[in-house]
Amino acid sequence: MAPLPDNSPDPAYREKLGEAARVARSWDGPIVVLSHVDPDGDAVGSCLALSRALRALGKDVTVATAPPRYLRFLAREGELVDEVPALPEGTLLFVLDVADLPRVAGGPVEGAAFTVNIDHHGTNDRFGDIAVVQPGKAATALLVKELIEELGVSWTPQIATPCLTGIITDTGNFRFANTSREVLEAAGELLDHGVDYVWLTDRLQWRHPDYFRTLGRVMETVEFGLGGALVLARYTADMKPVSGAEEDDSDDFVGIIRYAEGVLVAALLKERGPDVKVSVRTRDGVSAQAICVELGGGGHVAAAGATIRGVDMDEARRRLVEAARRELERQGKLPVDA
Ligand code: AMP
Ligand code: MN
Ligand code: MN
Repeated sequence: MAPLPDNSPDPAYREKLGEAARVARSWDGPIVVLSHVDPDGDAVGSCLALSRALRALGKDVTVATAPPRYLRFLAREGELVDEVPALPEGTLLFVLDVADLPRVAGGPVEGAAFTVNIDHHGTNDRFGDIAVVQPGKAATALLVKELIEELGVSWTPQIATPCLTGIITDTGNFRFANTSREVLEAAGELLDHGVDYVWLTDRLQWRHPDYFRTLGRVMETVEFGLGGALVLARYTADMKPVSGAEEDDSDDFVGIIRYAEGVLVAALLKERGPDVKVSVRTRDGVSAQAICVELGGGGHVAAAGATIRGVDMDEARRRLVEAARRELERQGKLPVDA
């Protein structure tokens, strides 16, 4: 059984953040920054903001993350590497926005001289020499913003833009339940640091032309269940765009169907070779986290995911519907006709 997620605030958050800043400021050796598989705006934005701030302090920083197409505009040519095969001797490793070690992408986690884990997932297993994990924060980018302030680095538009990106994407453009005064104030401060907000929010929605055809195919599979409380859609391997087939930009598909009237749980099932990746979004306190922990994954209350290994789409759908049914029952929100 997966451990129960701990979504409570860490009272030692400030001290740990200060300790992480002290370690980073005094570090003479190489620094490597990694995030999670399938990096999203928070993963890529947090990595870019922190690495740019550390470079401003004169540090030797390598960032290994492979953003999907729609986020690549954030990085400069050559700024990111796909992978570091091994950590150099004496590395300070930052792992950002990753709940557990198996989800780290871009390089090994073994062999670091010191590891700092910075994250906002309640399902984080608190790995590392310092685990700065604050589940109440809407985005890892908010923790990174506070770390940059602890580091005493002067803000530039180049640091503030990816930092705001993490906040924008993890709050669904300031629409999810994690949007708060803290979020809006932090965003306002980042605007003061020179972010071109209108340009950024427009640019973040740009998609390759093939995306729209794929979106159409996926939307044709939409079905409702559990008395209308559940919506789900399927993204099968044959729907992948033929041209530009590299990394697709389907992150927001599940967010679209979540807006079907009456829905409490939205799920996208993605066929990935022998596995199925499930993305779940919820509302009104129904826990996507509980559903995905049951399926072997993790995440937040309102947004979570899981990769179900060695199943076909029908079996994944069956398990998802059952996990959603149990969570709706627990919450007393299962419609009587479900
Ligand atoms: P996704 O549906 O992949 O966009 O993920 C939604 C949220 O859940 C993100 O914060 C992810 O980092 C997290 N998440 C997704 N899959 C997993 C997993 N297998 N284990 C832990 N967290 C996950
Ligand atoms: Mn993320
Ligand atoms: Mn995040």
